[in-house]
Amino acid sequence: MRICIYRGTNEIGGNCIELSENNTRILMDLGLPLVSMEQDLPLSEYKIPCPGLYANEEPTVNAIFITHNHPDHYGLLPLINPSIPVYMSKTLHDILKKIQPLLPGDFDISHLDIHEIAPNETVKIGDLTVTARPVDHAPAASAYEISNGKKRVVYTGDLRFHSNQKWKSWALAENATNPDYLLMEGTRISRAEAHEKYPTENAVCQAMTDLLNNSKKLSWITCSSQNLDRMVSVIKACYASGRTFVIDPYTAALFDIFHESFKSVPNVDMLSCIRIYYGTSESIANKMKNAGIFYTHAVKKITKEEIAAAPEKFVLKYNYNLSEWLLKNGLSDYNFIYSMWHGYLTRQHTWDKHKGHLVEIHTSGHADISDLQEFVKRIKPKQIIPIHTECKNDFQNIFGMSTMVLNDNEIKEL
Ligand SMILES: [Zn+2]
Repeated sequence: MRICIYRGTNEIGGNCIELSENNTRILMDLGLPLVSMEQDLPLSEYKIPCPGLYANEEPTVNAIFITHNHPDHYGLLPLINPSIPVYMSKTLHDILKKIQPLLPGDFDISHLDIHEIAPNETVKIGDLTVTARPVDHAPAASAYEISNGKKRVVYTGDLRFHSNQKWKSWALAENATNPDYLLMEGTRISRAEAHEKYPTENAVCQAMTDLLNNSKKLSWITCSSQNLDRMVSVIKACYASGRTFVIDPYTAALFDIFHESFKSVPNVDMLSCIRIYYGTSESIANKMKNAGIFYTHAVKKITKEEIAAAPEKFVLKYNYNLSEWLLKNGLSDYNFIYSMWHGYLTRQHTWDKHKGHLVEIHTSGHADISDLQEFVKRIKPKQIIPIHTECKNDFQNIFGMSTMVLNDNEIKEL
């Protein structure tokens, strides 16, 4: 088997990996580099030098496997030749098919040949087999186990061990034990992110509950609607503090997808603490109306006047227009809960003016060093290959085992 990491040997995000055996070529993830979020360039600027992948070429890539719902793992998909099969979990397919097109920009994968792969299902692609292994990181995130019958590679995608889904990541160590190669992410193997104030999702939920119980103020929250664990933490904190959580129709539509995919996620209409504010951006509203999903939960509607009458009763998912209106109509004191990666705070955003009210409550989507060390001890690979890290040369020391350090675009026989 051969490996070529097109992108990700020396950066966090943008993973694109090729594994091949004879004439069989498969890709693991097809992501955009993180820097693309700050640039306004066409997708084609971020192409990897992978032959037989793009729409204008004879397709020679046999399949692409996507690990999860973050653009640094799937963002290049619109450029591929549509005859190449793309495999992903059902939840990820639903998110990309139903939700992604609603957002600004022109992400379109409706023309692609997408196949859903179930947890622990194995598919045969030419001379390789690929098994999906669920992990804790994002909703329905998957690692993959790739074999040519002689050698076995485990690609972790992104993973962590500190939400209520952590059992999935530990199960990966048991179900895919003793691989020849562990292609493992190392996002937090850099000093800056090694330690966090809130080590687990439960700690995040508790901190939010304490804040809401102890302050009699309106709270804004900014977090990703696609971060199901975080949404559940906010809902739990709202129940524990008697608050109402006001979300937007897009977030409600995402919750419908999670409800369809996971038995433990209730229908939005069943959650008495949730209301929906419909003053969302016009372009998203129009796209959702066209898709017939804008008013799915109309019974939950709340007006800005209702919020202004008793602001201390609410937690509001951040909405620029609503925040401006409330400030003009007498709101002066409030909390602004920031619940995303700290690094985004350094970028300019409409929430900059709320920095004086900021309370950061977040835990990483990525494993810390000690959890990765325990994971390596349990899965027992013969060799580690670093990816999704800025510290590939530290792996050997940290994990005390043979490490294959690669450069982008380097081809290596495994
Ligand atoms: Zn991720």
